[in-house]
Amino acid sequence: MAYDFDLFVIGAGSGGVRAARFAAGFGAKVAVAESRYLGGTCVNVGCVPKKLLVYGAHVADELEQAAGFGWSLEEGHFDWGTLIANKNREIERLNGIYRNLLVNSGVTLLQGHARITGANEVEVEGQRYSAANILIATGGWPQVPDIPGKELAITSNEAFYLKDLPRRVLVVGGGYIAVEFAGIFQGLGADTSLLYRGDLFLRGFDGSVRTHLKEELEKRGLNLEFNADIQRIDKLDDGSLKATLKDGRELVADCVFYATGRRPMLDNLGLENTGVELDERGYIRVDEQYQTTAPSILAIGDVIGRVQLTPVALAEGMAVARRLFKPEQYRPVDYQNIPTAVFSQPPIGTVGLSEEQALAAGHKVQIFESRFRAMKLTLTDIQEKTLMKLVVDAETDKVLGCHMVGPDAGEIVQGLGIALKAGATKQQFDETIGVHPTAAEEFVTMRTVTR
Ligand code: FAD
Ligand code: NDP
Repeated sequence: MAYDFDLFVIGAGSGGVRAARFAAGFGAKVAVAESRYLGGTCVNVGCVPKKLLVYGAHVADELEQAAGFGWSLEEGHFDWGTLIANKNREIERLNGIYRNLLVNSGVTLLQGHARITGANEVEVEGQRYSAANILIATGGWPQVPDIPGKELAITSNEAFYLKDLPRRVLVVGGGYIAVEFAGIFQGLGADTSLLYRGDLFLRGFDGSVRTHLKEELEKRGLNLEFNADIQRIDKLDDGSLKATLKDGRELVADCVFYATGRRPMLDNLGLENTGVELDERGYIRVDEQYQTTAPSILAIGDVIGRVQLTPVALAEGMAVARRLFKPEQYRPVDYQNIPTAVFSQPPIGTVGLSEEQALAAGHKVQIFESRFRAMKLTLTDIQEKTLMKLVVDAETDKVLGCHMVGPDAGEIVQGLGIALKAGATKQQFDETIGVHPTAAEEFVTMRTVTR
């Protein structure tokens, strides 16, 4: 049977655009439907605007350090409206680039909500299209716990478009987004508290990293409230918000920001018309080649809930395009040793196993740990410490994990990711000549076993 398209992609986010472009490049007839914004979460309400706001908040650090280098500055003034307007202009520019990327690679771009109406059929704005393959790349959406007053809270989606910087903010959650936005709000001058339901935030990250970041955030004056869970939110007469915690305490703020995880975006997608099954967590179930339980339908990215990072969605998109239209070039995505950064202030960079994961996996480990005050701070009064840590297999000498909290951690960990992928040993780290004077050289000069 002749179909309208070889591949119909639902969602023009990180994964969908990558799959569509490459499939078209391999000669396939491709359509992509997008209901909201080109470039998806990352470009519009994720990585990109987030990083721009992090840069904005980081200027406060630079201003604080300036005096030590002989610069005297008049008291600075920050204008949220200017930052948001400039950020919006950049996002619009990127939207245009994504449009060109798709159109120039021959992809048919359809604006509107897509709903699957059969194993090989999708409906967009009342029009039905047939396709040999359908790719679901619809991403995720913020999830707020069902408490009284939850409609008074905002999520990352709204934070990027706030009219004013709130004076007092309660950030709820202990994952990437909570820690990053706590740094943004506080760095830009809001009186900020971070509330996390457990003992220590960033569950799953290396223990030293979690503790070190906690100490550094406290030094910066961020109010960390652990074992704190909001029971209800009420609006007060003066317009501010009162959060009542489960332990009875009451906190008042102008903004309550929830970053308590994301759910797969399956709204009105028409999965009931297909044989697509969900896993026990509610994400789309796929096999190792991203095929769902319906043979003609595939899924990638946040909607499969594997690793919710843009470079992973890109790799999965590429894998699907190759698998369908260039099978001789197909290579499975390697989910081992994915480097990642949390753009907190100071940031975290990490790749490989945490000390706890290495021990749980049965490795005998050697730990190399270093804490130092970055050279840049020596002319200032700032007492922030950088943490670097290597987790090494004591039997094979292989480096299992690299972890850092400190300036440029994300930039530094990218190269270490290559080393770990290549299976580097501690001896090879030691034999690598450092770049002097940098913080990064510490990763090749840690000689003494800490534990
Ligand atoms: P998305 O990029 O979410 O794209 C899905 C697209 O599908 C959307 O455009 C949506 O509108 C569209 N869509 C949904 N349903 C339909 C439908 N029925 N019809 C038509 N279109 C539809 N990752 C990093 O690696 N680094 C970071 O620094 C980082 N920061 C982040 C910060 C925040 C605040 C958030 C929320 C996420 C961040 N992420 C980051 C994660 C990253 O954004 C996601 O992992 C990535 O965007 C997932 O790509 P995707 O293609 O699966 O989905
Ligand atoms: P995460 O899954 O990272 O963190 C969710 C946090 O919310 C956890 O601390 C969790 O606690 C807590 N939580 C969950 N449910 C509740 C609840 N009912 N009440 C109170 N607390 C709750 O999600 P995020 O929203 O921070 O980010 C989503 C994903 O987006 C990330 O996992 C990451 O993959 C990606 N991302 C990547 C970034 C980057 O690369 N720099 C930046 C931002 C996002 P607990 O640990 O106890 O379960």
